[in-house]
Amino acid sequence: MIGVPMFFVRTNGCNLRCRWCDSTYTFSGGKEADVKTLLDLVSQSQERWICLTGGEPLIQRDAPMFVHGVIDLGKSLLLETSGSLSILPYTFSKRVVIDMDIKTPSSGEERRFFTNNLGYLRDTDYVKFVVTDDIDFEFARKFITEHNLPCEKILQPAWGTDMKWLVEKALDLKMDVRVLPQLHKLLWGEKRGV
Ligand code: SF4
Repeated sequence: MIGVPMFFVRTNGCNLRCRWCDSTYTFSGGKEADVKTLLDLVSQSQERWICLTGGEPLIQRDAPMFVHGVIDLGKSLLLETSGSLSILPYTFSKRVVIDMDIKTPSSGEERRFFTNNLGYLRDTDYVKFVVTDDIDFEFARKFITEHNLPCEKILQPAWGTDMKWLVEKALDLKMDVRVLPQLHKLLWGEKRGV
């Protein structure tokens, strides 16, 4: 959802250790906040969209309560997840949009995918493949060919990977995908909180 202003809630902790993780600072530290406090902040924010991200937000015990609370406030929520845990509890509303990674071989975590999630995706959701090289590209191409995914498919060049190379490969093969950059990194580099 590039270009949509969002209020960010970033949880700490992750059950994976992707080789190219750019959020390792979330693996420790952070500040305890209860759901009510977070929902108060959400209700005071100007943004219509809330982004729940991490780390891995689904390891948080209260994640379902928070997501229900956001929807009850009349807002919409983008849930960014690694795909290693069930997304089923978050599919109760189309105002929850799920942005789910399918981890590629370069992550070192591709075997951690919770395959039942493929059956929970809706046409309003996204799956995202981070691509670093030909092996990742071929993995994504094969995965998309073999699974009848109902949602949008996104290829994202890992930071430092040539986006033109990736766009041309996807165009050559007439793949039904969008190739999108990490806009926040193009704009602000490694700055946190954006
Ligand atoms: S799932 Fe995300 S936060 Fe966790 S290690 Fe992988 S890239 Fe980092």
